[in-house]
Amino acid sequence: MGILLRFVLLLLLAMLIVRAFWRVLAGVVDGVSQPKAPRSGPPDRGVQMVRDPVCGTFLPPESAITLTDRGAVRYFCSEKCRDAYKART
Ligand SMILES: [Zn+2]
Repeated sequence: MGILLRFVLLLLLAMLIVRAFWRVLAGVVDGVSQPKAPRSGPPDRGVQMVRDPVCGTFLPPESAITLTDRGAVRYFCSEKCRDAYKART
């Protein structure tokens, strides 16, 4: 085996290792950054949240203002939103 061929093979091997290493590193970075990513839209599944139909805010039901509207319970972030909903319907 020529020394040049051996060098090329070694270089290829090194490239494969580096590439695999970067892929693992990128995967770790992805896994770390993902749980903190959602800034908009519904929060994490698992935590039961309700949506204010007026302004679209998600909030836990225990801190929401409720209104029973034709048998269905509606949740609001504030009395202002509740009144706005009442005025709308
Ligand atoms: Zn609201």
